[in-house]
Amino acid sequence: MKEDLAVNGGPKTLNKDFNWPIFDDEDINAVAEITRSGAWGNPDCAGLVEQFEKEYATFCGSKYALTCVNGSVALRLALIACGVKPGDEVIVPPYTFIATASIVLEANCVPVFVDIDPDTYNIDPAEIEKAITGKTKVIMPVHFAGQACDMDAIMEIAAKNELRVIEDAAHAHGGEYKGKKLGSIGDAGCFSFQSSKNLTSGEGGIVVTDDEELYDMMNSLRNVGRIKGGQWYEHHNLGCNYRITQLQAALLSKQLSRLEEQTQKRDGNGIYLSALLEQIDGISPLKRGDGVTLHTNHIYIFKYDKSKFNNLSKRDFAEMLAAEGVPSFMGYPEPLYKQPLFQEKNFLCYAIPEYVDYTNVSCPETEKACYQDAVWIMQNTMLGTREDMDLIAAAIIKIQKAV
Ligand SMILES: *Cc1c(COP(=O)(O)O)cnc(C)c1O
Repeated sequence: MKEDLAVNGGPKTLNKDFNWPIFDDEDINAVAEITRSGAWGNPDCAGLVEQFEKEYATFCGSKYALTCVNGSVALRLALIACGVKPGDEVIVPPYTFIATASIVLEANCVPVFVDIDPDTYNIDPAEIEKAITGKTKVIMPVHFAGQACDMDAIMEIAAKNELRVIEDAAHAHGGEYKGKKLGSIGDAGCFSFQSSKNLTSGEGGIVVTDDEELYDMMNSLRNVGRIKGGQWYEHHNLGCNYRITQLQAALLSKQLSRLEEQTQKRDGNGIYLSALLEQIDGISPLKRGDGVTLHTNHIYIFKYDKSKFNNLSKRDFAEMLAAEGVPSFMGYPEPLYKQPLFQEKNFLCYAIPEYVDYTNVSCPETEKACYQDAVWIMQNTMLGTREDMDLIAAAIIKIQKAV
């Protein structure tokens, strides 16, 4: 019945606040201790930044980890350290956050959009091969929503064409591909600690790598071009101050200690919820990609078929579901290349070649995901109980019956 829907004033299906971030006195005390010490900056050395970097490198199974102010800068450092030149092409998916592509422009390089696989919403390796030209230098796969890309295929394409791989792992802290931590497979892996992410200090980012040369260059770029063994006022490279504070590092160390357990919980809930949603006509959870051994569910995504919901638009459906107490929304409204930034080429001072034109780019699977199919539920909801997952399914069924 229509009047039973929460959006029309009926009772909510799910009555719960899914808090995020999660913290306790240990987090508060760790930050308080640094506050009292007065050693807030880096390299003002309370040593916590380096300590956290070691912890994160170990966690990922990587040799090095380098913190920086946010995930966008993490990608920027990795890309520039790869030695790209103006006009070089970088392959990116269009179903991602703007930073994946905008940092490419900021490096005076050209983002080349390659469509996603509709089963997983990750970049499609077969399409990558078709997009490679003599100018291609880097592939930047995004482990979208926290599910691993087809890394065996991507690494093979990269090796064959002598390309670098920078993993955008902003959704994928602790996620795994064939038992390996995401971010540790390509030349570099970049993470964000922005508020919504699965590991957060409000803002922040980190790059992991096994490549000492890349690490040294990224360290220099983060640190106003200083080099190992150089003087304080000696600057070799065009960098900036991209350092984080000891306060963030103190918080991140505490947050990291909870990550593995939280990731397991989100993955378990995701598998459970998918089994329920598969039973509902017109709802199809994304498929679990081959080789995904741990899915972080930064976003839990399912596809919505409005023809099974009396042609209710995706936007209205997501609003009704949110009113039922399931924090959900429609995700990206359009592919990145449709943004005014690309359509109008508002690249300001950047040296992007004249011939670059995004007005006739078309990635049909991404367009379908944006305009028709994808509904998102964020990671904090996936930290709920099994009963909460039952209620998510119940809320969808309630809407289907009422409309
Ligand atoms: C959040 C995000 C980033 C950027 O991280 P910031 O810390 O916000 O700069 C990059 N890529 C993806 C896919 C993201 O979701």
